[in-house]
Amino acid sequence: MYGGTCINVGCIPSKSFVASAAFSAKLDSSFEEKARLYREAVEKKTKLTDTLRDKNYHKVADLENADVYNGTASFIDSRHVAVALQAETLELEADQIFINTGARPFIPPIEGLSDSRRAYISETMLSLEELPKHLVIIGGGYIGMEFASIYTNFGSRVTVIQDGEVFLPREDRDIADAVAESLKERGVKLLLSTKINSVRDEEAKTIVSVKTPEGDEKISADAVLVATGRRPNVNDLNLEAAGVELTPSGAVRTDEFLQTNVPGIYAMGDVVGGLQFTYISLDDFHIVKSQILGDKKRNVNNRAFKSRNRYEDKRDFRCSSVLRRIPRNDQPDQTRYGCTSSIYRAERYNLHPSDHERGTQRLI
Ligand SMILES: Cc1cc2nc3c(=O)[nH]c(=O)nc-3n(C[C@H](O)[C@H](O)[C@H](O)COP(=O)(O)OP(=O)(O)OC[C@H]3O[C@@H](n4cnc5c(N)ncnc54)[C@H](O)[C@@H]3O)c2cc1C
Repeated sequence: MYGGTCINVGCIPSKSFVASAAFSAKLDSSFEEKARLYREAVEKKTKLTDTLRDKNYHKVADLENADVYNGTASFIDSRHVAVALQAETLELEADQIFINTGARPFIPPIEGLSDSRRAYISETMLSLEELPKHLVIIGGGYIGMEFASIYTNFGSRVTVIQDGEVFLPREDRDIADAVAESLKERGVKLLLSTKINSVRDEEAKTIVSVKTPEGDEKISADAVLVATGRRPNVNDLNLEAAGVELTPSGAVRTDEFLQTNVPGIYAMGDVVGGLQFTYISLDDFHIVKSQILGDKKRNVNNRAFKSRNRYEDKRDFRCSSVLRRIPRNDQPDQTRYGCTSSIYRAERYNLHPSDHERGTQRLI
C-alpha cells in the first residue's frame, strides 16, 4: 500500500465518497437508484486510489537511489531492520531509521462485535458495495461523523452511538453544535451517553443492543461501522530490540524534534500519538528534514497550524467543506499563534463559488 492510509483508505477515498454522496443528496430518487449511484461511487473511488497508489509507488521506486520493499519491517537492533517479504526475509542496515507506520483502528471489546459479518472498519466500509438501508456507527469522532454524513446523503438511515455525553468533545461547542444540527436535520439519529451491551448477527440483520439514558433498546442494522479511534501501529516493529521507548498509551515516545530515545531513530505521524491527520504527518516530515538537512529551527512547538480536517460537504452545513481547527477558544495556547477568534453565524453567504447557504464561520 504505497502512500499510506490517507491515499488508500483514509482522506482521499472518503472525500471521493463525500463528493459522490453530495451529488446523490440533490436527487429526488428512490433508494434503489441511490444504491446504484453508491455502487458507482465505490468503483470511482477504487479507480482513483489505484491511480494514486501507482503514482506514489513510481515517485519513489523510480529514483536511482531508492529501493522499495513490500514487506513487514521489524527491528533486529538499533541499526538493523528485518523485512519479511513473501518468499524471504531481508536484513537492512542504516545509520538513520524513520518510524512512520501510522495507526490502526481500535476495536472495543463489545460482545459479538468482532464475530459480526456486518461489522466494518472505515477501510472495509469504503469497499462495501451494497448500500446499507440502516447503518449504525459506533463512535462519534470525526471519522464516524464523516461516514454519518456520507451515508445519510446516499439515502441510508444512520444511527450514531456514542458512550460519552459530549458530542465531538475535542471541538469548540459552537462548531460541534453546528455539525450535530446539520446531521440531525438530515435525519441522522445521535445517541449520546449510550452503552452497547452486545452485537448479534441474525439471518438478515444485525441486532445492536444498547442501554440509553432512557432505557434498553435493540437496534436492527444492515451494517455496523466501528469508528472508535485509531491506535499507534507498533505491534510488528519489535521496538524492544532497538530499545525504543513507548509512551503509557502505546505511542512511540519522541522529543520535540521527533527524535526517539535512541539516537538515529526518529518517529513521525500517527505512530507518535498526537493529532492523527495527514497535515501533521507531513509537518512532522518537515521537522525531521529541518533537523537533519536544514537549519534545525523546526520542532513540534512551532507548527504553523494545529490541524485541518474535513467533516462533510453538506447541504445544511456548508460554511465550508473543510473544517479547519485553530486552538480552541477555551484553550490557553491560542495566544501562541498571535491571534484570537470570533464566531459569526450566517444564514446565507458565499465563501466559495458553490452553493453554500448556511453555516458557522470563525474569523481570525
Ligand atoms: C477514513 C479516514 C479519513 C481520514 N480523513 C482525513 C482527512 O480528511 N484529513 C486528514 O488530515 N487526515 C485524515 N485521516 C487521517 C490520515 O489518514 C492519517 O492521519 C495519516 O494518513 C497518517 O499518516 P502517517 O504518515 O502517520 O501513516 P500512514 O499514512 O498510516 O502510513 C503508515 C504505513 O505504514 C505501513 N506499516 C505499518 N506497520 C508496518 C510495518 N511493520 N512494516 C512496514 N509497513 C508498515 C502501513 O500499512 C501504512 O501503509 C483520515 C483517516 C481515515 C482512516
